[in-house]
Amino acid sequence: MDIPKQYNPRDTEDKIFQFWKTKGLLHSDSSRGGQPYCIAIPPPNVTGILHMGHALNNTIQDILIRWKRMSGFNTLWLYGTDHAGIATQNAVEKSLSKKGISRNDLGREKFIEKIWEWKERHGNTIKEQLQKLGCSCDWQRERFTMDEGLSRAVQEVFLRLYRKGYIYRGNYIVNWCPRCQTALSEEEVTRTEQEGKLYYIKYPIKDSDDFVIVATTRPETMLGDVAVALNPTDKRLKHLREKVIVLPILRRDLKVIADEFVDPKFGTGIVKVTPAHDPNDFLMGQRDNLHPVNVMSEDGVMNENAGPYHQLDRFLCRTKLLQDLDEQDLLEKVERHTYALGRCYRCDTIVEPRLSLQWFVKMKPLAEPALKAVLDGKIKFHPKRWTKVYVNWMENIRDWCISRQIWWGHRLPIWYCRNCQEIIASPGRPESCPKCSGTDLKQDEDVLDTWFSSWLWPFSTLGWPDDNEDLTFYYPTDALVTAQEIIFFWVAKMIMAGFEFMGDIPFRDVYIHGTVRDDTGAKMSKSLGNIIDPLEIIQEFGADSLRVSIILITAQGQDVFLSKEKFEIGRNFANKIWNASRFVLSNLEGCSRNTEFRADSLSSDDIYILSKLNDTITEVAAALRKYRFNDTASALYDFFWHHYCDRYIEYAKARLFGESQEEKARTQNVLYFVLNNSLKLLHPFMPFMTEAIWELLPRDDDLPLMISAWPKPLKLSLDREVAENVMQKYELIRAGRNLRAEYNIPPGKKMTFAIKPSGEKESHFLIQERDNIAQMLRASEVTVDMHLSSARPAPSAITPLGTVYLSLEGQIDVGAEAARWRKQYQKVNDDLERVKRKLANRDFLEKAPPEVVQKEKDRLSALTTQAKKIKKNLSFLQ
Ligand SMILES: [Zn+2]
Ligand SMILES: [Zn+2]
Repeated sequence: MDIPKQYNPRDTEDKIFQFWKTKGLLHSDSSRGGQPYCIAIPPPNVTGILHMGHALNNTIQDILIRWKRMSGFNTLWLYGTDHAGIATQNAVEKSLSKKGISRNDLGREKFIEKIWEWKERHGNTIKEQLQKLGCSCDWQRERFTMDEGLSRAVQEVFLRLYRKGYIYRGNYIVNWCPRCQTALSEEEVTRTEQEGKLYYIKYPIKDSDDFVIVATTRPETMLGDVAVALNPTDKRLKHLREKVIVLPILRRDLKVIADEFVDPKFGTGIVKVTPAHDPNDFLMGQRDNLHPVNVMSEDGVMNENAGPYHQLDRFLCRTKLLQDLDEQDLLEKVERHTYALGRCYRCDTIVEPRLSLQWFVKMKPLAEPALKAVLDGKIKFHPKRWTKVYVNWMENIRDWCISRQIWWGHRLPIWYCRNCQEIIASPGRPESCPKCSGTDLKQDEDVLDTWFSSWLWPFSTLGWPDDNEDLTFYYPTDALVTAQEIIFFWVAKMIMAGFEFMGDIPFRDVYIHGTVRDDTGAKMSKSLGNIIDPLEIIQEFGADSLRVSIILITAQGQDVFLSKEKFEIGRNFANKIWNASRFVLSNLEGCSRNTEFRADSLSSDDIYILSKLNDTITEVAAALRKYRFNDTASALYDFFWHHYCDRYIEYAKARLFGESQEEKARTQNVLYFVLNNSLKLLHPFMPFMTEAIWELLPRDDDLPLMISAWPKPLKLSLDREVAENVMQKYELIRAGRNLRAEYNIPPGKKMTFAIKPSGEKESHFLIQERDNIAQMLRASEVTVDMHLSSARPAPSAITPLGTVYLSLEGQIDVGAEAARWRKQYQKVNDDLERVKRKLANRDFLEKAPPEVVQKEKDRLSALTTQAKKIKKNLSFLQ
């Protein structure tokens, strides 16, 4: 057979992917029946580009899907993308701004048209990149969170929740950019530690000469103060509870409230409460029924509530206000203060927390069944520790702000009657107001939070709200594979939506993987310049190498530490697989492929490799069921490299080229059988190369590897003790080879060995295996003798099967070898004396750092051992 010496992933991978595609192997069909297995992909952003986090996330999903597909399940890996409201709108705005166009220049409709154009141009990039990685999604079912079906699902869900009274409108503190005049999500705010100032301001106590001191970084917001707060347990401040405080400048009376939120150890233990301009104060205000006072307009200019500062810019107001306070002797002191300042991601303007009217979903009733499902174990988190995080969050859940002041997204199905102010929820524009029959209606300008479409993902992608076969067949899905950052954003919300709209869990297992970092532990980011591009790795090492490397080095749920060199692990493994397969395939001529093995006709090595294969099959399935991917990959690596290549193939060589036709035939069948099964086991991890080798493997059927049957352990009673003895045989061979190496014996030189077995049974086994051992040790003779004198003057090594002796007599130039050893002894001895002198030196012992002294002590002990060993070796030469 003509098989290329080198495997070239660049030439092979795209061809293999096309092969799967044209054979229709990627498509799933519920009408085929069987047992379903479904994963809905965490939808990447439609304009996204593949990064290492995606590579890890999707490799794991593909492993699960391929494993289940080969195990006979009717599998569906549902692919789709997210419209990613803010991120996409930003990308398009940035690109337009290069041409000097703003979204306001275009207007809403035209701008949205531009985004759709952008999606047409860039929306397929991530899809093509996932295909390069080998992802076996059903690419024909591609969904998009703003496609027609999913938009209908979003609208339906909004209306159902609205009618149930779960959606309401209310005031809320948002991150506000005064320049862009829009709310920003937390992800859109860049927070950096910055040196600022902390101002200590005196607030007089009413009807007294006394005052309290509060500290703030944003003094201009004090104009919106409605109270001061202290911790209810703070005894020092108990006397203040009955007092009234006077707000400086504006002379407004302020209540004193008690709130657990106040840290009694921070500052004076008293804080000002400004519900309209601080999220924590807002919550305190809600708890105490305080009416917020907003002192700023949308553009960051002070409004009429700011009294004398009306129409001043917020920072100008700050300067002026501080001057006034100082003049009235109300500014106690100013300190330097470092804090995280938020800036607008788009224009770098300092973000202002601002109270505004938003739409919310009541979460408590939705959270109840979702919490119970996890507590009852209907949904399991892997690793388990995430259960606690989830439960804790769900028990303290807050209402969800779902409105965003951007243009790209699902517009709220809410209409306002201009005549009577009635609010109407309706899938389309209502003909008239149901209250006053007026027709002057205006749709809400806001769009829904991106997660308001992705929380429906597991069922909306299967066709909900329409009843259909796919939905019945594939829902609930089986596994969700995702990163920890989005447990609350996404995972928890999907569970809530699953119960609310489908009456059932959305998935059974949630696997949370770690974050991809560089090898120093830093998160990969553009600004740090430490990004490793998966496509570059695929280009250089191949997708298989990327996949298997990233899995091999990632412990369950732990962060991944990557450097480019780490991918050599996968490339070396891929080369090993290719070379071993190439050897086996080239030596299968005349192979009957009869794999109906009979235990009594197998050699010890056959029994050993087949029972190792059985163990590996069992181990792999058990580890995959527990989502322990690196354990699976390590088991396969160890089996294929160390047991199959290093041992069995070495053993097989003599059988393939030996005299006995019977032995040759049997060995060929075992080699074939193990390779065949190994390719199957390796396929989910390294799909391209295994499929390419499979194509070269002689078979009776022409099923592609991707849909061939997942291996089951052989139903053959294989003697464990024999398998164990063979393992020990290889240990003995290794010990014997080490002895040869120690005495510099050229590989081609035949030597004689003697073995003193450790018992009767071992003796019996060793005699049976003598020829094979002799071959592996390149020995002209191996004697096995229970009565061998252990005082024999020859280099030896103790192994579980027995002690192996290398006979040097008449085999080597004793004089030359002894001279070599003496020379080495001299050198070690010199070193030893030097270290001894150093350690006897008081000056050194007193002045050197302890770790340096310890290093010398370690050296002393290592050199002593070495010297002893050389002396012993020398003794065998005399
Ligand atoms: Zn801005
Ligand atoms: Zn009306």
